[in-house]
Amino acid sequence: MFGEKFKRKYALSDKGVHNTKMGMLWTIVVNLLMMGGMGLLYFMMQSFISTLTENGALPNPWLYVGLTVLFVILSLIVHLLQYHATYGLVYGEVKTMRIGLAERLRRLPLGYFGKRDLADLTETIMGDVNRMEHVWSHVMGYLYGSYVSTAVIAVVLLIYDWRLAIAALWGVPAAFALLFGSRKMAKKNSEISKQAAVKVSDSIQETLENIREIHATNQEARYLSELNEKIDKHEKTLLRGEFATGIFVNAASVIMRLGIATTILVGSALILSGQIDFMLFFMFLLVITRVYAPFDQSLALIAEVFMSEVSANRLMEIYDSPVAEGSNAFQPNGHDIVFDNVCFAYDNEQVLRGVSFTAKEGEVTALVGPSGSGKSTCARLAARLWDITDGSIQVGGVDINSVDPETLLTDYAMVFQDVVLFDDTVMENIRLGKHGATDEEVIAAAKAANCDEFVSKLPDGYHTPIGENGAKLSGGERQRISIARALLKNAPIVLLDEATASLDVENETKVQGALSRLLQNKTVLVIAHRMRTVEAADKIVVLKDGRVAEAGKPEELMQQNGEFAKMVRLQNKSAGWTVA
Ligand code: ADP
Repeated sequence: MFGEKFKRKYALSDKGVHNTKMGMLWTIVVNLLMMGGMGLLYFMMQSFISTLTENGALPNPWLYVGLTVLFVILSLIVHLLQYHATYGLVYGEVKTMRIGLAERLRRLPLGYFGKRDLADLTETIMGDVNRMEHVWSHVMGYLYGSYVSTAVIAVVLLIYDWRLAIAALWGVPAAFALLFGSRKMAKKNSEISKQAAVKVSDSIQETLENIREIHATNQEARYLSELNEKIDKHEKTLLRGEFATGIFVNAASVIMRLGIATTILVGSALILSGQIDFMLFFMFLLVITRVYAPFDQSLALIAEVFMSEVSANRLMEIYDSPVAEGSNAFQPNGHDIVFDNVCFAYDNEQVLRGVSFTAKEGEVTALVGPSGSGKSTCARLAARLWDITDGSIQVGGVDINSVDPETLLTDYAMVFQDVVLFDDTVMENIRLGKHGATDEEVIAAAKAANCDEFVSKLPDGYHTPIGENGAKLSGGERQRISIARALLKNAPIVLLDEATASLDVENETKVQGALSRLLQNKTVLVIAHRMRTVEAADKIVVLKDGRVAEAGKPEELMQQNGEFAKMVRLQNKSAGWTVA
């Protein structure tokens, strides 16, 4: 019962399964002890009645006081133990789950995050784990424990009198059958409201991310009304789900209680026909009021168990996604990057269809081609940010698919368009390039990247915080920080998405100067947008429709008068540039 399937169904760790068993065990003890309390009451009643009817001597009252005190102390202890087992230990499980998820997410290939909505992922880590936490702490031990204790009590009752036992207990399986019948609906409702919740977070995230554009284009009203609509929809799906669940849970509770009525009916008939005595009937009545108690709590919660299956599935989906694995030893022979017949698709869209080229160490290889031809994709694949579907990519003769992504990345410096800056000081943002770099090293790299000039104007120099994602810096300044980072890292391979388009001439010259320092003697793969870079490149790779249309030195390609020559002519026409 507590095998792999159980673990997956409730997204539990091994320790979580053990804790569930402990919670169950103590719930069984509590339920049976409470039933024992009924036995004690029955025993007292019986001796009083026999004293009254048979005129015997009253038994020693201290015996009853002693037994009652003992019962109270015992039940206090087992309740505490049950509490500890069901609630206390579960919080450890939540911690394990969140750390496990974070660890898993860290090891997933970046492609995973491209495919999955970030709001959805956040909802899983926060919302789904919370829901599971509630199920683990409030439901599992109680529910499974109550199944067992009720079964034990049912057997005892059946032995005493099977007719009364059936009259008393038929409602329990009937109530559960009704709830299980509603399971599919509960799951569906839960899925629908989860999707509605994700849409709300998505919408909020999108509004916050684009707040400037929204203001600039006077779209506040439209965004707000869209958000309102989504919130309303979420509320409606929640209400509908709760309402449906409420009906089923209450109906189940009523059906269970019908057992009291049938016990009275059957009991009266049996007493009248002289088949049982009154005391047995009385004991059954006492017992059945207790039998329902643990289920009362669980009935409402079992609906939650059904709904939690959606959350558990979402959690397991993260655990089941294949992580990018590989060896932690990476000793390439030089740093030539070789693309050999590389095929790649994002989801179903085939982007690269057999791309082959070599980017040599000590050379600048420029990827050119129309927008959407796959230049950025090639750069990402070269660093194993995604895994390719066919062919191979080698660095210094080593297939990068066999290398652990984190190990691999120590040999790469990347300067991409979307520089990620943290809400920290300039110094710390540059230091990210090399763990444990000294302040002197950081400043040296910053100077080489021409950061010094703008940093000296900041109120606290290198110790000035730059705001969330560098909000207080200009585009060119952000780029220079990312170049400083790369310089500090001094990795043998540099991937560069050249996006200097937004810079003015003066800034562009400065960034170019910093770049050329960064690129010396490295294997450089650059996504080229500017003719100047293309001219200076040692090798051009022209991508078109997911294939290499042509490759070679710039002069050679100009002579061939093919795609490259055509692009250069077009650019020259629009910008008035000349290519030597
Ligand atoms: P380029 O850099 O040459 O402009 P890209 O490599 O960015 O081209 O894109 C190539 C194709 O892949 C385009 O059709 C683009 O829409 C698609 N694409 C790029 N990134 C993603 C992604 N994260 N998910 C899905 N499709 C993508």
